Parts: sequence; structure tokens; C-alpha cells
Amino acid sequence: MELNNFKFNKKLGQNFIFDNNLLCAIAKDSGINKDDEVLEIGAGAGTLTNVLKDVCKKVVSYEIDNNLKDILTQKFKDTKNVEIIFKDALKTDLKEIENNFDGQFHIVANLPYYITTPLIFKFIQSKKVASITIMVQKEVANRMVANVSTSDYGILSVMLQFYGDVKICRIVKRQMFTPMPNVDSAVVNIVPKPNVCDAQIFSDIVHKSFAMRRKTILNNLSSGFDVDKVVISNWLTLCNIPVSARAENLSIEDFVKLTKTFDTISSYLSIK
Ligand code: SAH
Repeated sequence: MELNNFKFNKKLGQNFIFDNNLLCAIAKDSGINKDDEVLEIGAGAGTLTNVLKDVCKKVVSYEIDNNLKDILTQKFKDTKNVEIIFKDALKTDLKEIENNFDGQFHIVANLPYYITTPLIFKFIQSKKVASITIMVQKEVANRMVANVSTSDYGILSVMLQFYGDVKICRIVKRQMFTPMPNVDSAVVNIVPKPNVCDAQIFSDIVHKSFAMRRKTILNNLSSGFDVDKVVISNWLTLCNIPVSARAENLSIEDFVKLTKTFDTISSYLSIK
């Protein structure tokens, strides 16, 4: 095909999908329809772009690699509802990306693993993002949807499930990619939801709680906030959380309770 002379760039995480059934399945997983506007990140050879354009109103696709310019420009030169922007989606200002769309938009992407998590957190707090459907490493997908008190449950699970409803749509075997990566993948769908408490404080508490996985929540919060254990102990009791618990035993609701009652200890912090 047109990719004859194209050299795959490993550093840019270039693992392309050519299987049409899989591409259609990913489009279906995203739940998009004719009225929807879509942001794609990492156009590659435009195979997913090509499927998306037939099921939605408009696709704006960011691609970092200028070596794909000729292939992509040629492929979509007569297609009115596709626009390819040759820029780094991670470094481009959120407002600038949002301005490509009239209203809310959906994100659909098969992109390098090392930028999926930062990208999700870049977009999930945007009021204009209706959903995110993204390919991630299978193990990462398992951590994203993990339940409390399991070994996969950690900062990623808590933060993501705080910001949205997350589900695994399908597992994608490594053989489906060209060139073939060393790991299997999964398509994950995330629908953002309104924050139920202050996101900054929530994030701070979660990160401090998981600082040392084997330590109790009491010890982690006490050293994280540099506040006496007695104070932390009162705070935990107020939230009905046993002082002997570890972060992995705290549900999202527990972390929300801690956030909502943060003033219990914030007065101690202000004295310092
Ligand atoms: N979506 C295509 C390509 C997947 S490979 C397919 O499914 O076949 C991932 C693509 O993301 C590559 O083309 C790579 O050049 C591009 N990419 C990597 N980092 C990027 C970034 N920061 N912004 C935009 N595109 C990026």
C-alpha cells in the first residue's frame, strides 16, 4: 500500500492497525453517531480516521509525525469531514484543541502507551469532552477498572474512577498491530462525570495515601501531611475508616469522605 517506503518510528509508538473489522469495532465501542464530532489522536496511516469519518459528523486528527503528511494529505484530500493537524496533541494547548469543535466532542485514539495516561488526564476534566475511547496496554486497562482491595487497585484506579465511569470494551491481541508490539492491548471507554468534591485536595490525599503501599493509611497521611498521628486518627475515625487500613482498602467514597472533611486537619496545617 501507500506505506511502501514508510519507516515505522518506534519512539513515536507507531503500531498501526489495518484490520477493518477491528477498526469498525473500536468505532462502535466509542458509541459515536452521525451527530458527533470526534478528536482522534495519532492518525498514523489514517486507517481508524477512515472508519470514523463514515460514522460521525467530523473528525479532527492530530499527528505528530511529518513523515506521514504526504500519505494522509493524499488519502483525505477529497474528504470534507476530515481535518488532519500535524502537531503534538500532548503539547498543544487544551483550549486550542477544543476550538476545533462546535460543542462537545468524543475522543477516539490508538496511540503510544506512554502518552495515554497523561492524555486521559489532560482531557478528562474538560467540560467539552463527552467520552474517551482509547487503546491501552492490557495490564494498564486492568488497573484502570480495578476494584478496591485487589492488587491492581492503586492511584490510577482511584483517580480515573473519580473523574469518570470506566469500562474495558475489548481485549486486542498484539498480532493485530503492525509492527507487532510485545504486549496485548485493550480498548477502554471513559465517560467523564462531575466532581463530587475538590479534585485538587482529593488528588493530594490519594497520592499521599499510596506513597508507601505497605504502610497504613495512618502512617502515610501522617508523614505525607506532616501532621501528628493523633490528628490523622481523629480524621479517619470521623470518616469511619479504621486506622489500621491500607490505601488499597479505601474505596473512592472513602477518599471523597476524607476530602470533604479535610478541614479537620487543614487547620493544623495552617499553623505550621
Ligand atoms: N491510529 C493509527 C496509528 C497508531 S500508532 C492506527 O490505529 O493505525 C500511533 C500514532 O500516534 C503514530 O502515528 C504516532 O506518530 C502518533 N503520535 C505519537 N505521539 C503523538 C502525539 N504526542 N501527538 C499526536 N500524535 C502522536
